[in-house]
Amino acid sequence: MKAIQVHRAGGPEVLELTDLPKPSPGPGQVLIRVEAVGLNFADILQVAGEYLVRTRYPMVPGMEFAGTIEALGEGVEGVREGQRVAALGGSGAFAEYAVVPAGSVLPVPPEMSAAEAAAFPVSYFTAYFALQTQAQAQPGEWVLIQAAAGALGTASIQIAKALGLRVVALASSEEKLALCRRLGADVTLLNTQDNLVDSVRKATEGKGVDILMEVVGGAGFAHSLKMLAYRGRLLVIGSASREMAQMYPVALMKGNQSVIGVWLTPFLSDPTQMQAATAFLMPLVASGRVRPVVGERFKLEEAARAFAFVLGRKNTGKVILEP
Ligand code: NDP
Repeated sequence: MKAIQVHRAGGPEVLELTDLPKPSPGPGQVLIRVEAVGLNFADILQVAGEYLVRTRYPMVPGMEFAGTIEALGEGVEGVREGQRVAALGGSGAFAEYAVVPAGSVLPVPPEMSAAEAAAFPVSYFTAYFALQTQAQAQPGEWVLIQAAAGALGTASIQIAKALGLRVVALASSEEKLALCRRLGADVTLLNTQDNLVDSVRKATEGKGVDILMEVVGGAGFAHSLKMLAYRGRLLVIGSASREMAQMYPVALMKGNQSVIGVWLTPFLSDPTQMQAATAFLMPLVASGRVRPVVGERFKLEEAARAFAFVLGRKNTGKVILEP
């Protein structure tokens, strides 16, 4: 089968199209014919060897995808051959076929395309765990979403609105901000403007935001802290700048503020948390209230171009690879 393999740490240039044996499902696993793969910033970090867990090479990237179950491993129950599913795994989806534990697949409603389904798991579960589980968002609170036109950002706007929050969306172009407004953002601001802290305070009647989804890190982190309201929660979700951030924890005391980490992976092996998230998310999908924003689509063999596209900050919504 066709796959993209990586032998050493690097950027788009280390992604190699190759031929690998088609995998077969072990006990408790399912074999899925991959129809669409969601490209995540985490894939880029994983290939670069900069992810939260160490990358072991050679590897096939790709942590979320959608497709059709082709074979069941021993002892698998609750899913069937021919079923359309979305799946979340650690890696291995940049290929025509992938094997994942049966417990990590989600049924795909008929009205959802493969591309939409592939754009769903990482961004929507992360948005839910960030806002609901970690920040304990309350209706009426203000949330600031960085990179709001991206994959996680567009999902976060939709989940924030479903939770009754007021949204300040930041992005790097007017076109991106227009998308954020279409998704329901209440206030949109260019992240390139000089006086961002003042603009955020002004937009929130001088008080600042109750929750801030920090995904860029680096030098901007200090500004993010200044945008927080009294008892504000800053969620550390990513570091797209790939630069270190500095902070003085004592500064949090004055406003009874918190800095909270958010990582999707540990939640995936917590059945109670996953059930709560699924029970919240799936009705929103079924009612059409939440619909993933599918961005540009690339052929699997164009994975390097797709990486460069995301690194160039050109995407809106989730970039999709199609085998
Ligand atoms: P996006 O689709 O949001 O793409 C990244 C966006 O980040 C860009 O479009 C850009 O938006 C912004 N950005 C800011 N600085 C840079 C930079 N130096 N290089 C590239 N992009 C930059 O990607 P994802 O939705 O996949 O991920 C967004 C962030 O969320 C990442 O940091 C990712 O690691 C994190 N994440 C974390 C998860 C977790 O479990 N903790 C799960 C999922 C995502 P703009 O041009 O508008 O500034």
